[in-house]
Amino acid sequence: MTWWIAHKINQHQVKQPACQLLSTVFKAALPGTTHRGAVTCHRLIEKKMRKENQLKILATDLDGTLIPLADNPQNQRDLQTLKDALRKNQSTMMFVTGRHFGSVIHAIEEFDLPIPEWIICDVGTSIYKLKPAPESLPEIGSHFEQTRDYAFYLRRLIGAYSATILRDELTSVSGIRLQEEQKQGHFKLSYYAEARELDELCSLIQTELNRNKLPWSIIASVDPFNGDGLIDLLPAGCSKAFALDWLIRHLPLDESDVVFAGDSGNDFAAMTSGLKSIVVANADREFAKRVHDEHVRQGWKDRLFLATDQATSGVLQGCQQFGFLPRDSSNPPHRKAVGSN
Ligand SMILES: [Mg+2]
Repeated sequence: MTWWIAHKINQHQVKQPACQLLSTVFKAALPGTTHRGAVTCHRLIEKKMRKENQLKILATDLDGTLIPLADNPQNQRDLQTLKDALRKNQSTMMFVTGRHFGSVIHAIEEFDLPIPEWIICDVGTSIYKLKPAPESLPEIGSHFEQTRDYAFYLRRLIGAYSATILRDELTSVSGIRLQEEQKQGHFKLSYYAEARELDELCSLIQTELNRNKLPWSIIASVDPFNGDGLIDLLPAGCSKAFALDWLIRHLPLDESDVVFAGDSGNDFAAMTSGLKSIVVANADREFAKRVHDEHVRQGWKDRLFLATDQATSGVLQGCQQFGFLPRDSSNPPHRKAVGSN
């Protein structure tokens, strides 16, 4: 029966009111069943409803992107405009950040950010979903639950080689020091290092990974605020883009419905994965050029917007450029999307 309904949904023979009813029915049935048909039907129904309601998804980095810059009052105003427009448009929001979960919740409270439906944090090694909850829950963090399917997926990637084993293997590498406990995770081992020694240290760590055949990979960066060298070890291939791709396939979503916004190196993979992308104006110009060149190389047209406004304002500008949000007539676009005619 469920497969017959799935077929009818695919054939667009189930209308919107029936979809809403079916979604409720299947959602109620899901917690107590592993019946594949019910799961498939529920996902198809949600996908169809998103499509018909023209819901769009904004996936955005936080620091330097969605979070208003300290000395930019226009960013503050545009954050409110963005929040109002996303709510009115019934858009879905995802945060895609290197911050750990507690730090994301702190940022939501500190900067009065919109509450997202999904949070990809810890550089793509954990995913949290907003759960239906009573209004009376005391704090924002309790409204989210970690997505276990993704944790299982990562666990299969690393097999028996846990972060604890990895840490033991790397004790022989001098010049790296563990970051604070809250910045570590089941699938993330993070160190500080001298920025000038990053290349050499990463090479030493890679040698250890190869020698012991450890299924982990390295992401190195420099903290733009204090110049600290940062080394993250993640399950092989894992990144913000990796997690976002998993979530898009898992829900499932149409890639053409997703706009990604970012400002720096660890956003590069997501921006060059085929999604529509916004590079905010405060991003390093060399970084913006790399993203642009990759879009040109891939032959993609109209998938990249180089904002002329910074951070929050650039995100708003890009959403309007891609037609996800209505354009404010007092704020005309300054620049066309790359590849547009
Ligand atoms: Mg950033």
